[in-house]
Amino acid sequence: MLVAQSPHPLTPREALPLIYLDHAATTPLAPQAAAAMDRAASCFWANPSSVHTPGRAARAALEEARESLAAALNLKKYSLIFTSSASEANNLALKGRVYGRVGHPQHLVVSAIEHDSMRHTARYLAKTVPHVTLTEVPPDSNGVVSPSAIQAAIRPETMLVALMHANNETGAIQPVPQVARMLKSSPDYRNIALLCDAVQSFGKIPLDCEALGCDYMTLSAHKFNGPRGAGALVVSPRCSCDPLIHGGTQESGHRAGTENLPAIAGMAAAAQLAVARLAETQSHLARLEALFLAALCAAELPFQLNGPAADKLPGMINLSIPDLAQDDLIVGMDLAGFAISAGSACSSGVVEPSHVLQAMSLPEWRTRGSIRISFGPGNTPAEAESAADALAALAQRLEAELPASGAQSR
Ligand code: PLP
Repeated sequence: MLVAQSPHPLTPREALPLIYLDHAATTPLAPQAAAAMDRAASCFWANPSSVHTPGRAARAALEEARESLAAALNLKKYSLIFTSSASEANNLALKGRVYGRVGHPQHLVVSAIEHDSMRHTARYLAKTVPHVTLTEVPPDSNGVVSPSAIQAAIRPETMLVALMHANNETGAIQPVPQVARMLKSSPDYRNIALLCDAVQSFGKIPLDCEALGCDYMTLSAHKFNGPRGAGALVVSPRCSCDPLIHGGTQESGHRAGTENLPAIAGMAAAAQLAVARLAETQSHLARLEALFLAALCAAELPFQLNGPAADKLPGMINLSIPDLAQDDLIVGMDLAGFAISAGSACSSGVVEPSHVLQAMSLPEWRTRGSIRISFGPGNTPAEAESAADALAALAQRLEAELPASGAQSR
């Protein structure tokens, strides 16, 4: 039984008949971000490139948002390019670097667990740009890519390594600082850039781009209670990036187009909030995860965690239950009042087997049957426990409906 209590500001319950446990997909807009967006839309509606007074006010608001986001990320020397999403930021980093060196041999090393906006972009470049080659580096069975596996893939013509900070399906934190150190000691370091997709980690674990040692880092506002339509690419002073969108000189010539100031202001406000609440969020999410798993164990549900048990994002759980189908679990939980997701990306209504779990060489029942529960700061301990109880009850019911010959995967 859930105890009635006043909703957390990051849980807009009036819009949510279900208990939302899919924060890795997107998050509710924080009231502070909404207020910053309102203010930008009503007070700074002029074009930031205009030289008149309202234009200059909009420009000042834009630069204030940039400084505030840079401060939240502890960026001292790096520059920050606003984009429409992390997908765009990943495209901009990869294509912007490759297009700047067309005609030269270019080798990309990309981890096999990257988000599709990285993986598919790298594959596209290797297919379409002459002299571009690609090595995809698999993780171990816990979903962690080892620095030595990346090192083994490096060649004299390697010019970029892409390794995410934390995986969006398993939550596995990747050894980015170790890879940065390994690259720095490589004889070819001056040609190699490290690109880190930090979309899932920002706001959940400490994130410091300069301390991590990355050259490019990407972010998405809607993953940390900011709005959709805002992302960012962070670029180190030793790297450059050709634009993908040509036209005006916005974003220092890196991205033409009048800036989406309300979304940018919302992103900066959400980032400030995320950093201010980081310690609290981190321990809250870890507690919800522990309660959820303890309740599942207490219900004696046979399940297998996909991904590491430690060194992972707090509050993100990826699991498979022997013999039970992903769709039945997701739909059954939805009917029971809980919004959870497939472990794998579902971008057209069709759920593909997870490329991340496949790269981890897990058996098919785990790659095809995985579900992901991702808690947010607005979830309560009672919700975590009731979600586990609901999952255990659902699994029991589904197991009882299995044909006698169905239990093959245990
Ligand atoms: N990178 C990771 C790790 C993600 O989880 C996502 C979204 O799920 C993205 C990139 C793409 O973010 P956006 O929705 O801003 O394009």
